[in-house]
Amino acid sequence: MRATVMHGAGDVRIENVPDARLVEPTDALVVVTRGAICGSDLWPYRSMEHDDAGRRMGHEFIGVVEAVGTDVRTVRRGDVVGSPFLWSDGTCVFCKEGLHSSCLHGGRYGFDDVDGGQGEAVRVPQADGTLVALPVDRDDALMPSLLTLSDVMGTGHHAALAAKVAPGRNVAVVGDGAVGLCGVIAAKRLGGERIIMLGRHPDRVALAKELGATDVVSERGDEAVERVRELTGGLGVHSVLECVGLEQSMLTALGVARAGGAVGRVGVPQEEAIPASLPTFFKNVAIGGGPAPVRAYIEELLPDVLDGRIEPGRVFDRVSGLEGVPDGYRAMNDREAIKVMIDF
Ligand SMILES: [Zn+2]
Repeated sequence: MRATVMHGAGDVRIENVPDARLVEPTDALVVVTRGAICGSDLWPYRSMEHDDAGRRMGHEFIGVVEAVGTDVRTVRRGDVVGSPFLWSDGTCVFCKEGLHSSCLHGGRYGFDDVDGGQGEAVRVPQADGTLVALPVDRDDALMPSLLTLSDVMGTGHHAALAAKVAPGRNVAVVGDGAVGLCGVIAAKRLGGERIIMLGRHPDRVALAKELGATDVVSERGDEAVERVRELTGGLGVHSVLECVGLEQSMLTALGVARAGGAVGRVGVPQEEAIPASLPTFFKNVAIGGGPAPVRAYIEELLPDVLDGRIEPGRVFDRVSGLEGVPDGYRAMNDREAIKVMIDF
C-alpha cells in the first residue's frame, strides 16, 4: 500500500510500504478515507535528521473498518470510524479517569509497527477503546469537521478546559494555527465572554473572528501583553490557551494571564523549562494542559458537530490526494495553508 514516510527535514515521500494487517485479536484494520497533516508534524519536518528507513507519518484519520480481530466488539466491518490521535484501551485506570493520553496500554500511530494515518490503511490497536463509530456515510458533508475530532478540535477543547474557560471569563488564545482556531471555537462554546485572538496572519484572524473571537491582537511579545492588558482594564485575562509551544509564545501566554488566572498549554513545548516562574508565582497563575485526551472528548463534541453548532472543519483550507501530501507539508510550513485535509 502507499503511505507517507518522512526521511528528514523537508524530505517527505509517498512510498510503497507493507500492507496494514491485523496482528492482535484486539486490532481493527481501517481503510483510510480522510486524513490530515498536523501542525505537530511540522516540528520533525523542520528538524529531523536524515534517516534512510524513515518514519511513518500521520495521526488524524477517518476510515472504514475492513476487518476486526476476534476480541473486537464495538465496531465491525463496514463501519465508518474516527480515531483519536492516540490509541488507548478505554479500560485502564487513566482511561477511566478520562485521561486516555496516559493509557497504560496505549500508544502513538506511526511507532512500534503501528501504521501512520497518512496512508491507505491503518492497523488500529485496542480498537474497542480507540475507535468511535460515526453515524454518517463515508462522504458526508460533515467529514472535515468530524476529522478535527481526531486532534485539533479536541486539543483546542483541552486547552480551554485547562485554562478554566467558563461563562463570564475573559480568554486569550495564543497561536492562530488550526489548534488556536479550534481553541476559539471551544472558548466560545464554553461561554467565554471576551475572546482575544493573538495572531497576525490576515486570513487566520479573519476566520478567528467568524468562529467567535471578539478581539484580535497582532502585536508580539511585550507589546502584545500590553495590548491585552489594555483590553482588560489593565488586569489581563482569566483564561489563556497556549497553542504554539515556543518560549516566546509561552512568555506571552503567561504575561497576559491575570492574577488567579489559568494557562492551558497544548502546543508541544520546544524548551525544557517553563519561563516566568516568579511573576506567575506571585500572581497565583495556574499552568495546566498537555497532550489532549481526545478520545474522552469525542462523545461530548460529536453531537455539536452533527448538529452544526460548531464547524471546526473550517480550519481546513486545502484538500490534497495522498500523492500531494509532500507539497501539503511545504504549504503548511510556508504558512500558505492553515491545515491540509487528505482525501483518499
Ligand atoms: Zn487505558
